[in-house]
Amino acid sequence: MKYSLKRAFVWATAYLALAMLPALVAYLGPVPPRTFWVEVGVGLGFVALGVLAMQFFLTGRFQSIVPSFGLDSMLQIHRQLGLVALVLVLAHPVVLFAADPSYFEFLDPRVELPRALALWAVIGALLLLVATSLWRLVFRLEYEWWRLVHGALAAFVVFVGVTHTLQVGHYVSEPWIQGFFVLVLGGALGLLLNARLIRPWRMRRRPWRLTAVREERGDAWTLALEPQGHAGMRFRAGQFAWLTLNDTPFTLQQHPYSFSSSSDDAPDRVEFTVKVEGDFSASVRDAKPGRLAFLEGPFGHFLPSPDPRVGCVMIVGGVGVTPCMSMLRTFADREDGRNLNMIYANVALADVIFFEELQRVQERLHFRVTHVLEEPPEGWEGEEGLITRDLLERHLPTDWDAYEYFICGPEAMMNIAETSLLELGIRQRQILSERFNMV
Ligand SMILES: Cc1cc2nc3c(=O)[nH]c(=O)nc-3n(C[C@H](O)[C@H](O)[C@H](O)COP(=O)(O)OP(=O)(O)OC[C@H]3O[C@@H](n4cnc5c(N)ncnc54)[C@H](O)[C@@H]3O)c2cc1C
Repeated sequence: MKYSLKRAFVWATAYLALAMLPALVAYLGPVPPRTFWVEVGVGLGFVALGVLAMQFFLTGRFQSIVPSFGLDSMLQIHRQLGLVALVLVLAHPVVLFAADPSYFEFLDPRVELPRALALWAVIGALLLLVATSLWRLVFRLEYEWWRLVHGALAAFVVFVGVTHTLQVGHYVSEPWIQGFFVLVLGGALGLLLNARLIRPWRMRRRPWRLTAVREERGDAWTLALEPQGHAGMRFRAGQFAWLTLNDTPFTLQQHPYSFSSSSDDAPDRVEFTVKVEGDFSASVRDAKPGRLAFLEGPFGHFLPSPDPRVGCVMIVGGVGVTPCMSMLRTFADREDGRNLNMIYANVALADVIFFEELQRVQERLHFRVTHVLEEPPEGWEGEEGLITRDLLERHLPTDWDAYEYFICGPEAMMNIAETSLLELGIRQRQILSERFNMV
């Protein structure tokens, strides 16, 4: 992935400083001396609180930070740090109990019922938060409901965490320190409010209208959208936006889709090509031109170099072709002369989205497409089966160093393509991947 290392380093340092801030501030006040291990146990709790509060920041889709890491990497980081927070939260009482068993009374409802209930509830909520995120499909939780529950549980965990800190009061006797912890809570809740209310509120003032719905091969549908009373959206070929197909942006249904149209058609017109997967994408079939939509974006760093001397190898499968189609359409509009090579895997010929256009584009650009079919029709002379290292070796350009490699498709295909390219000597920084299953 090509992200700015310098900016990523700056943001990572800022993240660490902010996550550690509650612990640092707590120790700035007058603290009666206690044993080393008690301090370690309490310190773990403060760091846990900092990490938990910062989780809201990582999912905030801030345009100034996302480019440094990529949205999918930020979600991965958010996921890993959720596990770190869980370990810290659990370690906090464990270390305290080991250091001084009298701390057990915090969890004893006979000593103080509200305190014990709140602490048991927060441990339960955090376990539920992590379990539903790791095993959402096992719980049969629809993505939209999971997102709602996730936000509510996370807000509850931080709320109880801060309340617990203030109630225990050992490190927060000074009013300014109390104020700081109220600010931590306010900041976390504010970020949640921003994601669920303020961003949709802003989107409400920038509606889009669905102007056309085109059926494509492979149970996919192209939606064309035009801005209603605003300047539209500029994007770069390869990027994506979050699409809401509804009269209001205040809905749980918001889905990421890559732009499939030429970026030169923007900002007045954008297109997305949606493959029917589940409830939302299936509803696209019945969407009627004229209905309202909302877009949030653009996001993404699946971007070809601006230098036309750098060629593109596109290794795509199924609907993973959409961001590359946007690139091809943009290159065609710009009469870009770079070398373009696509290896496109599908089950059957009938599934090959944009088949006819890809054939035509070969006449307009320095572009060659190799179709790979799992179930080829009778008399098929092209490639059969799945994308493998051997197949890639047969079709990759020999001057491989002069290319960037774009990979987008089913998880298994992407893993094979990434590993094979690295084994063949292509450098990591030449490889760009877009994962449609990032959540
Ligand atoms: C960067 C990116 C670009 C994408 N581009 C395209 C594209 O051009 N064309 C295309 O057909 N698909 C694309 N997708 C995939 C598309 O977002 C999902 O297929 C779609 O959200 C499925 O929703 P559903 O309700 O129809 O299916 P469901 O069966 O409800 O969901 C299938 C899976 O999709 C994921 N998903 C569901 N809802 C969301 C959501 N709101 N946000 C994120 N993930 C969700 C979940 O992992 C879920 O398990 C892209 C995904 C990403 C991350």
